[in-house]
Amino acid sequence: MDYTLFFEDAVRALKDEKRYRVFADLERVAGRFPRALWRRGDETQEIVVWCSNDYLGMGQHPKVISAMTETAQRMGAGAGGTRNISGTNHPLVQLENELADLHQKEAALIFTSGYVSNEAAISTIAKLLPDCLILSDQLNHASMIHGVRSSGVSKQVWRHNDLAHLEDLLKAAGRERAKLIVFESVYSMDGDVAPIERIADLADKYNAYTYIDEVHAVGMYGARGAGICERDGVMDRIDVIEGTLAKGFGVMGGYITGTSALVDAVRSYAPGFIFTTALPPGLCAAATASIRHLKESTAEREAHQRQSARTKAVLLAAGLPVMPSETHIVPLLVGNPDLCKKASDILLEKHGIYIQPINYPTVPRGTERLRITPTPYHDDSLVEHLANALVDVWETLELPLNTPQPIEDDGVVIRRQIFRAAGG
Ligand SMILES: *Cc1c(COP(=O)(O)O)cnc(C)c1O
Repeated sequence: MDYTLFFEDAVRALKDEKRYRVFADLERVAGRFPRALWRRGDETQEIVVWCSNDYLGMGQHPKVISAMTETAQRMGAGAGGTRNISGTNHPLVQLENELADLHQKEAALIFTSGYVSNEAAISTIAKLLPDCLILSDQLNHASMIHGVRSSGVSKQVWRHNDLAHLEDLLKAAGRERAKLIVFESVYSMDGDVAPIERIADLADKYNAYTYIDEVHAVGMYGARGAGICERDGVMDRIDVIEGTLAKGFGVMGGYITGTSALVDAVRSYAPGFIFTTALPPGLCAAATASIRHLKESTAEREAHQRQSARTKAVLLAAGLPVMPSETHIVPLLVGNPDLCKKASDILLEKHGIYIQPINYPTVPRGTERLRITPTPYHDDSLVEHLANALVDVWETLELPLNTPQPIEDDGVVIRRQIFRAAGG
């Protein structure tokens, strides 16, 4: 038997479907975010990254970098083992305290990533509740779906953000049965937001436990950066708030926060927590520095919102098919996997702009898109450069453009508007 053939066939199937992924070889440059070096063989070219989840540029913040390096100098590079075997490094204790305070919960628990936190916590919570029924939003992230699956308990999927459907399922299950509602605050591919308060109302009415993924909101929303629940004043109405340290906070790791009883149970029963090495102290110190900074400083959040709104407005003004989004995420519809990949290639090779194509299964077929994530560091001239490059790509690939919409403010020059004026 030729084992290699199976692997090659599997990859060929993806290539035939135009879903094969290529990762650009990039080198981020601290102090020059969102610029990075793109390496191809012997060549190196400076490019601008427009799809980073380091939403606030905290990965290069001087306080964060120095917390990491200073702690590594004092305590070494690694954690030295699982917490079961080696105990807990003090910076990890501090980080958990910081997170519990951020979300105004009794306790927090750190995992090696947001993915692991969802997988481990959802499966463990559901298993600990007798005859639990999980009610899962249709568009939940892969890590939540895996948590639901590996719990082995029964589940029902409610139509995305559809409260009536959720209520039907809750009502059918009855008040007496244990029910776990799992959902996200910001859905990261469309940029829409869950009706959190009304979900909490339903949970109260039908006596359900609630679990929210705030991965795309922590650091970015709320007065102290605790997320959409904080912004909407409903942190205390959700039982478990999950987040990542890798996106808005710019480092790495995942966590849950909730009551001491919940956290203690997950700590004691979740294999994905117990049998893996803890985060290294330098990483914990860096994450704590980032969270502390964003609790105090609103400048990053304000600039982030401004540049996101600006990007949407300028792209719409150029007639580009920006999909409706209530948040900082700017999805641009292509609708075909091959063209989506080609658009991404032209942007990088011709314009020095890196935007990874988003294809199935991350988004439904026919809704392939470029997912643009402006940060405080994408200034107005970068936005303008992006819009012009995208219009060029759309024209090259003969993708449909809408009628340009007038932009409210000042003198942004969009190539397409110039073309129009010149009768082009
Ligand atoms: C990225 C992501 C995660 C996983 O977080 P990591 O820290 O990157 O592992 C979880 N949930 C959602 C919605 C995400 O987009």
